[in-house]
Amino acid sequence: DRSVCAPLPVLGRDVTVPLVTGDEVTYAALDYAASAPALQRVWDDVAAYAPYYGSVHRGAGYLSRLSTDLFENARKTVAEFLDCRDGDEVIFTRSTTDSLNLLAATLPADCRVFVFETEHHASLLPWREARVTYLDAPRSARQAVQTLERALADRAPSPSSQLRSSEGGPNGPALVCVTGASNVTGELWPVRELAAAAHAHGARIVLDAAQLAPHHPVSVRDLDVDWVAFSGHKLYAPFGSGVLAGRADWLREAEPYLAGGGASRRVTRRTDGGVDVEWHETAARHEAGSPNVIGAYSIAAACRVLTEAGFASLVAREQNLIRKVRDGLAEIPEVTVLSLFGDDAPRVGVISFVVEGWNSSRFAAALSAEYGIGVRDGLFCAHPLVRTLLGSDPQTQGECGAPETAPGEQSLHAIRVSFGAGTPDEHVERFVRAVG
Ligand code: PMP
Repeated sequence: DRSVCAPLPVLGRDVTVPLVTGDEVTYAALDYAASAPALQRVWDDVAAYAPYYGSVHRGAGYLSRLSTDLFENARKTVAEFLDCRDGDEVIFTRSTTDSLNLLAATLPADCRVFVFETEHHASLLPWREARVTYLDAPRSARQAVQTLERALADRAPSPSSQLRSSEGGPNGPALVCVTGASNVTGELWPVRELAAAAHAHGARIVLDAAQLAPHHPVSVRDLDVDWVAFSGHKLYAPFGSGVLAGRADWLREAEPYLAGGGASRRVTRRTDGGVDVEWHETAARHEAGSPNVIGAYSIAAACRVLTEAGFASLVAREQNLIRKVRDGLAEIPEVTVLSLFGDDAPRVGVISFVVEGWNSSRFAAALSAEYGIGVRDGLFCAHPLVRTLLGSDPQTQGECGAPETAPGEQSLHAIRVSFGAGTPDEHVERFVRAVG
């Protein structure tokens, strides 16, 4: 297929690892959903910049000024990559988790939050100090939209609705948080439809694009989401940064996420001995402390490489790999692939499954020891979702990092294989052979 590109060069593609037999084999990194390898070109860009490293917004020297420019240009590159609207902010954070916690810290008073129980914990948990409605797992994209619409329509009027008629109508402010692609099933969520439903009911929406952005173009404008969050280390730029991008107003009105230098424009001593602070209004308000310029720079580099490679051919290539894995697993009777929306749902290269008669932890360990394949087993920081998919007891079973059941017992964990722009066909072919 001529529209399908070759894998993009990534670091680690020649790394060999020992097997139990004593042989060595090239490592098949099939855990992109946890952290993807760095793109070679991102690494090259970072290495070229490193000698010019300097402080950002904190120095008069040439290298400080250069680093400040590169940091601010990285913001513009990310805004273009996400197709942001005029006036949207791009804030550099540590990760998706950090981005969503930052947004949670800016919620207006009385904000209601609506989130599906199927979310990654980073999307599920930051809102617990607000009034949260957890929505049951839908079984189709259509049902997801209907469930959200019903919940938003049924929400009780805000106690201070008269005071806040400008935000969210009579029902007060509300926020919906939703994933673009599941980190467990890889299934795409109907983001545009959910955003339309949210807005029709006076709510806003934040998109957790941690798993979507590495696989698909994300247009804030087109999806009509209010914010989007993603992590550099899943977008082939593992240098410690993430992004929160979107509407400026809540961010500007809230107290800074972190207090410190860079966020404060003017600090003065009061006559009563205290201090008064005037905070910055823009992104700097939530970026206190010296920023991670290499993290931001590397994300911008990854955005450029992915845009240049073209998502159309990256998606075409990935869909081929998905077909290989799904077709291969479908031929193994002991394997059950986990899915919320069914076989025909559109998805990215993230596939979770269980193998009858096998303990998932031991299975994953065997893939590593016998085949040099790196996957993940567990509940993938999405405990309620994995328990729903496995049909296990919602209260008690399994925890992250806990030892698994004995061999042969029903597994409480699943195995996840995930891949992306750097994955050669041989890795997924080896994986299918190994499982079989
Ligand atoms: N959301 C989703 C859908 C994820 O897959 C992840 C990471 N597994 C996160 C959020 C959190 O990302 P990070 O660990 O980079 O903060």
